[in-house]
Amino acid sequence: MSGKQRKNKAVFSRPALAAFILIITGAVFLYFWPEFPGQVWTVTDYADPEAIEEEDLSKEDDAGEEPPADLEDVNDPFEDRDDHEEPQEKAEEQEDKVKEEAVEPAEEELTTPDKDLKVISDGDCLLALVTKETTLKEDYAPVDLEAIPSYMNPSYSMRLRSEALEHLEKLWKAANEDGVTLSIRSAYRSYETQKQLFKDYASRHGEEEANRFSARPGQSEHQLGTAVDFGGTDADFTARFGQTKQGRWLAKNAHKYGFALSYPRDKESITGYIYEPWHFRYIGVDHARQWKQSGLTLKEYLEKQPQEFE
Ligand SMILES: [Zn+2]
Repeated sequence: MSGKQRKNKAVFSRPALAAFILIITGAVFLYFWPEFPGQVWTVTDYADPEAIEEEDLSKEDDAGEEPPADLEDVNDPFEDRDDHEEPQEKAEEQEDKVKEEAVEPAEEELTTPDKDLKVISDGDCLLALVTKETTLKEDYAPVDLEAIPSYMNPSYSMRLRSEALEHLEKLWKAANEDGVTLSIRSAYRSYETQKQLFKDYASRHGEEEANRFSARPGQSEHQLGTAVDFGGTDADFTARFGQTKQGRWLAKNAHKYGFALSYPRDKESITGYIYEPWHFRYIGVDHARQWKQSGLTLKEYLEKQPQEFE
């Protein structure tokens, strides 16, 4: 009897031990790969378009047309310049480099949307309407771009227009005082940068699909130098960002500092883009307050403002 009991005990303890080891292994894995589930989601469902977007550019070389800061900018929220890089980001970067080598960059030209685009006269206007029906000129670039200070945790060297940056600093500090630490994942992007970015997406997903989460060149608010992608969570560049402390704080407070959410949830039929709870655009404090009160999407709000086209 006692021998049988011992045997039973031994038989039982083996799977128990195996389960224990599995749990420990799983815990260690999840500890080191906190973004793993999100990234899987991202890659398959495009929920994390900008993450893919910016990663891709990290491999491009400076063609000499843009100041180095721009290229770094395009290049990579994931290729951090400081020592706070997360293991997952490194892994992604490596993975993407492998992908880049395997996939030829898109050589063919992008198709032109079959409609007449209105050419925006003045990209410096804070209320310029940048949509899928309008376009900034290829040579438009803001003249008052300034570097985003390192204390705001930019993922790499990036720039924003002077007035927008001034208000971003206020926003960042206010969030910090509320116990919310934000990082800046993307800011100004040039026309050329956006072009390469979109081409790359189009080559992978087809233009139509790519255009749901990435703007065509000339149609990105990032070219204005007033748009910011926020982060600082394990859900950066995903719809889940909207549920994080950072995402909720921004949704509630960003307008007080002049920033409007460009692509809200369930408004793709209006904005043309999927929900991007991390992407905000500076339009000035007064207008941001009015926009918030209006309940309109930013696109609808700006359509009601005077616009100049060529
Ligand atoms: Zn963005």
